[in-house]
Amino acid sequence: MLCYTCGWRKTPTASETIASDVSVEASVNGDTRYIEIQLAVKCGHCGRFTAIRAIDFLYPPDKEQERIEEWDEHIRAEGVIVLHRYHQEPALFRPCPSGAPGYRIQEAWDDAERAFATRDLATPAGMAYRRVIDVAIRAMTNDQKSKKPLGVRVHDLLAAGAISKELADLIDQAKAFGDEAAHGMPLRDKDAAIARDLCEAFLRQAFTIPHLTSQIKIAIAEREAQESEPEIPF
Ligand SMILES: [Zn+2]
Repeated sequence: MLCYTCGWRKTPTASETIASDVSVEASVNGDTRYIEIQLAVKCGHCGRFTAIRAIDFLYPPDKEQERIEEWDEHIRAEGVIVLHRYHQEPALFRPCPSGAPGYRIQEAWDDAERAFATRDLATPAGMAYRRVIDVAIRAMTNDQKSKKPLGVRVHDLLAAGAISKELADLIDQAKAFGDEAAHGMPLRDKDAAIARDLCEAFLRQAFTIPHLTSQIKIAIAEREAQESEPEIPF
């Protein structure tokens, strides 16, 4: 019996496992081995299927086979499985926009998405998206411990020419929802959805676009440095 949140309706549910696979996998560079658990489950509410992939690191390397057998047995016996971190399809959360540096922004984004996905926590979700912006601005200024209010730090970045007026306005709009929520105003679902879209747009402008631009510059430099190759017609 797997307890999870259905990605179709975003509601907590439980399901018997329809199919499963438990195997040992290795990271790309071969440094880390882990047990991968893949499950196909059918939602108790809406009846639709979800594929879930989870990772289990909690075993000594010499006990891999035993651990696989334990998992197989547990799944077969319909034991209760509560997964802490997992990937599922259809996805429950939007992924953090690419290019954001460090794990803190990613973690803050995942927290906000978790609150948003419950469809029941619009006000905490609005605050959580504001926190994503706070963490991102700390990363941009390389100052994790600043006591300055977020608005002042954004203004400093703008004054120093580190961000555009357009980006500063985007931050202001996104942060306004979190400010309201933090000062006692309840948010509606649609407010949280707008805060989420604005926060995502900010992360894309602040990190994803510069990241893609630097990647393409590197790719161009590498191409320029290449010896001329036989022409490929596409
Ligand atoms: Zn469902």
